[in-house]
Amino acid sequence: MKILVVNSGSSSIKYRLFDMADESLLANGLVERIGIQGSLINHYPAGKDAFIKEIEIPDHRKGIELVIDALLDNKYGVIKSISEITAVGHRVVHGGEKYSGSVLLNDDVMDTLNEFIELAPLHNPPNILGIKVCQELLPGIPQVGVFDTAFHQSIPEQAFLYGLPYSFYEKYRIRRYGFHGTSHKYVAQKAAEILGKDLKELKVITCHLGNGSSITAVKEGKSVDTSLGFGTISGVIMGTRCGDIDPAIIPYLMEKEKLSFKEINDILYKKSGFMGLSEGISSDMRDLEAQVSNGNKRAKRTLDVLYYGLKKYIGAYTAAMNGLDVLVFTAGIGENSPLLRKTVCEGLSFFGIEIDDKKNDGLKGKKAIISTENSKVKIFVIPTDEELMIAHDTAEICNNFNG
Ligand code: AMP
Repeated sequence: MKILVVNSGSSSIKYRLFDMADESLLANGLVERIGIQGSLINHYPAGKDAFIKEIEIPDHRKGIELVIDALLDNKYGVIKSISEITAVGHRVVHGGEKYSGSVLLNDDVMDTLNEFIELAPLHNPPNILGIKVCQELLPGIPQVGVFDTAFHQSIPEQAFLYGLPYSFYEKYRIRRYGFHGTSHKYVAQKAAEILGKDLKELKVITCHLGNGSSITAVKEGKSVDTSLGFGTISGVIMGTRCGDIDPAIIPYLMEKEKLSFKEINDILYKKSGFMGLSEGISSDMRDLEAQVSNGNKRAKRTLDVLYYGLKKYIGAYTAAMNGLDVLVFTAGIGENSPLLRKTVCEGLSFFGIEIDDKKNDGLKGKKAIISTENSKVKIFVIPTDEELMIAHDTAEICNNFNG
């Protein structure tokens, strides 16, 4: 069974083709700068030369056409006919309150996804576009939607409600949704698998720390709380997003600086976090760490805020679950920054968290346990693989559908 996974963004399409017999990756690639000058396709077939071509890509339709051509190409291709693709799995950011799992994308689901555009105005439209183009270009091949929000639909009311008038929840569905769900679920399951335990028996905190970050508490195999909420801005500070702030700041700043709705939104989402606190050094962790080692105070205060925020979330979620067995770090920063892992874990021995410096430093992008033998809490680094998780869900839904 071959599954194509598509992650369609506003100006890019990421794709992977898996052979689910052994979960091997047959090809992966990226269509970039759709509708922008200098658009290109980067195609990486397993065991063959990469194919990178600059070509005009005015829209998503052309982008997906190029992906299909690349997959079928005589020299760079990995399949002979599109009928070899059993199904396509799509990453969809927002599934609202309706989807707590992945679904086969029929007309009814597509109508519902259109309704959720107002909940994720930046992400859902390009996701929907990618699905529509695939439905057109790959007729008869089942398409499955895998939602970033789905894993968090198990969060109980006490954790998903905000302290606003309840009518806003009833009228507008304003609540905590959470994101990166596919990643949190994947790494929590992997950690349990490595320990040889059932995830349902473990209390786990997963830290997905990348350009966007979220922390999730997983109890009895279910997400019970997560740091991103209604939008993708709360929780710890991120590359350019502010993380948790007192909401009183927003009207105050708008008045002081005479800001429009769009301008304040831009500040909170695009000019804050690492970028804002460091006064423009960078939104990228690597740059900030390099500056800290050069003694830069602006970079240091930025990372101190991040480390402190992470410690607080780990503490809060340990309390929420009344214990902790496993702490997982994943995504760009979580997987690659030993300094962050060390600083965050230090001083948490009260919770039974003890990092092994040697294991932490010696790690090279692989999954590993980095806690000491005596640590009550097992600390893991697990590379996230949202695409593989999407492929799994897609295969499962197709199997159920066919059988
Ligand atoms: P992601 O959104 O998961 O791709 O993660 C992007 C973030 O990971 C950026 O802030 C990068 O600076 C960070 N990152 C990637 N590689 C490293 C590294 N070797 N050390 C520290 N941070 C890294």
